[in-house]
Amino acid sequence: MTPDPSTLAANLKRLAADLGLHDCRIALLQGPAPHADAFQAWLDDGRHGSMEWMARQPQRRCDPREVLPGARSVVSLALNYWQPHPHSPPPQAATGSIARYAWGDDYHPLLDRKLRDLCSHLEDCGGTQKLYADTGPILERDWATASGLGWNGKSTLQIHPTLGCYFFLAEILTTLEIAPDRPLHDHCGKCTRCLTACPTQAITAPHQLDARRCLSYLTIEHQGPIPLEFRQALGDRIYGCDDCLAACPWNRFAQASRETAFAARPFVHQWPLRHFLALDPASFTALFRLSPIRRIKLPAFLRNVCVALGNVGTPDDLPALSRAAQDPNPLIAEHAQWALCEIARRLPSLSFPDSPNSL
Ligand code: SF4
Ligand code: SF4
Repeated sequence: MTPDPSTLAANLKRLAADLGLHDCRIALLQGPAPHADAFQAWLDDGRHGSMEWMARQPQRRCDPREVLPGARSVVSLALNYWQPHPHSPPPQAATGSIARYAWGDDYHPLLDRKLRDLCSHLEDCGGTQKLYADTGPILERDWATASGLGWNGKSTLQIHPTLGCYFFLAEILTTLEIAPDRPLHDHCGKCTRCLTACPTQAITAPHQLDARRCLSYLTIEHQGPIPLEFRQALGDRIYGCDDCLAACPWNRFAQASRETAFAARPFVHQWPLRHFLALDPASFTALFRLSPIRRIKLPAFLRNVCVALGNVGTPDDLPALSRAAQDPNPLIAEHAQWALCEIARRLPSLSFPDSPNSL
């Protein structure tokens, strides 16, 4: 027999906590996502850039009942990934910045396993489920907000009152009716720190993100050349950007995640940038085994490393960049060329041969 909605909610929350999830909240599903029209306008404006998968079947993304007929509840789940910066002496050579969520193992399989356990429980209670660990079409922040799992910040990130914004969000759609939670108020108030902190003005207005300007998009989702206008703003970033997260005052309560899989790997803080330029496909796969970074593949990663070296590299990086400038892949070669020119521009006292090519 199916338990009543309140018992279902209590049991589900207890199981989620036992599985190490940091929050579990429920929203009733009675119509399309509240921001379905705004999402369509965002797509129509082309602000999703080259993420064409976002524009596919938008009706499925906007209304979960299109994905799971008969769905009655959305369960939103949070998994904290915050890790403190380790206290270790910095290496002598320039290093790169990697978004905190990618310091350790890829979160998808870990989150997927926890969600499957929750789904089996709901199945035993008579429900049919569909799970999303950042893996499918759903306007997840709308449902998280409706359930009171934080609020949608001006940065467009979901902000949780105790976790801040360093957490993974996941969802389960279910045909069961589960007792819903109350939404929270928006607690951004007059704060605009995320808008000010963004190095490329990608947050064009509160709650408005132009992905084409966002350094996370440009270093992770975008496969082509990084537009020249954003290369200097990239700074030392080689995978993602955390500036709008780091600026948010709601992170003041953030605690280290209990998940040891998210602990920083040695390459995150200890590898000089130029060491990455020595990676070949096999060593790239070995270094980033289980890491989310492997998903962008070697050429896009080396593209990012070249731009970062152009911004923060020193004369010691010139030989590695010169070799990269001869790479048969034009994406890598062009960004390495740009980096050589940029170092020459930043350090005019360096005696360059006639052309950076000849270094
Ligand atoms: S991730 Fe970086 S570039 Fe993108 S919106 Fe946030 S601060 Fe701006
Ligand atoms: S930085 Fe300020 S405005 Fe931006 S999401 Fe956080 S609280 Fe809201």
